[in-house]
Amino acid sequence: MSIWDKNLANASLQSLVPYEPGKPIDDVAREFGLDPASVIKLASNENPLGPSPKAIEASKAFLENAHIYPDGGGYHLREAIAEDHQLSKDQVILGNGSNEIIELSYHAFTQPGQSSVVASRYAFVVYKLMAQLFNVEMIEVPDSDFQHDLEAMLEAIRPDTKMIFIASPNNPTGTRIPDTEIVAFLEKVPSSVIVILDEAYYEFLPDAPPSIQWLERFPQLILTRTFSKIQGLAALRIGYGLAHPEIAGVLQRCRQPFNANAIAQAAALASYQDKEHQSKTAEMTLAGRDRLEAFARQHQIHYIPSEANFVMMKTGEADRIFSELQQKGVIIRSLSSYGLPDWIRVSIGTPEEMTRFESEILEVI
Ligand code: PMP
Repeated sequence: MSIWDKNLANASLQSLVPYEPGKPIDDVAREFGLDPASVIKLASNENPLGPSPKAIEASKAFLENAHIYPDGGGYHLREAIAEDHQLSKDQVILGNGSNEIIELSYHAFTQPGQSSVVASRYAFVVYKLMAQLFNVEMIEVPDSDFQHDLEAMLEAIRPDTKMIFIASPNNPTGTRIPDTEIVAFLEKVPSSVIVILDEAYYEFLPDAPPSIQWLERFPQLILTRTFSKIQGLAALRIGYGLAHPEIAGVLQRCRQPFNANAIAQAAALASYQDKEHQSKTAEMTLAGRDRLEAFARQHQIHYIPSEANFVMMKTGEADRIFSELQQKGVIIRSLSSYGLPDWIRVSIGTPEEMTRFESEILEVI
């Protein structure tokens, strides 16, 4: 039977290519007969130091209560985040990863078949996948040398445009939008358009933007942040959004009652308070990134200077490089699914992992 001929499923899903995650270590080890302990993954911008030991302890303790439903309102975690940013708790919404905040925004602000959204050509791919899922038109705006072209994005806004996504630093390009450009952009966006500023890699910026202050000035702004990157809790799926209380309230209505699980909330709270683990991670990441970029220069590999915990490099033949490195037990990302068949993306690992990457890449390039 063809589900599409029979018109059983939503037609807009037929051409949807599901999100392609970084390949798991176990899969690669099985496929190539390698010892999983010898395989390194530099493919999903994770924290190579792992979670904060305090987060591990908190989540273990919480397992004892796994028979009790989570606090659907996420009281303690939202309180801690709000206090940290001097916001009110009703400005904080928790998500099953920050991806869920993106999804909730589509639920809240778009209408299938009637709305459009705007994003930059090489922005994080989930914005586009969700647009397709919700049968909303994605207006992709060409970028300029892997930098968002905010002027062109403003011009792309139509009467049916409901949301505009900007990512800073962006994945997979690693590029940051200057603070002054973001403010000038926010000043010009019509108040009927929601702006989602995705700050998944915000904590890696030594001079992070005062984006919390922008919330007060621009009530249609939503900031999204995650515990998956610097906090090292990617497996637990927890992130959050920050917005005007009315916007956050609408997002709250769109979520499942227990969207952020209790173990994740407990781990996230402990992790959030462990500033030492975060600075250790940032320090290692920035040193590793400097080293990787220096390596690229030394070997004349073109790269885009990154502000995040990964670097995009032009090696040519990204799919071949990906698969040959994989056979050697090094997992990176080919960016051909982003329409960049000559580019790979390499996450910053430990110094040992970077040494391994440097020696293996030279053999396959
Ligand atoms: N935004 C960006 C820019 C990302 O790179 C990612 C992770 N790949 C996310 C959002 C989603 O992260 P999570 O759902 O794990 O919080």
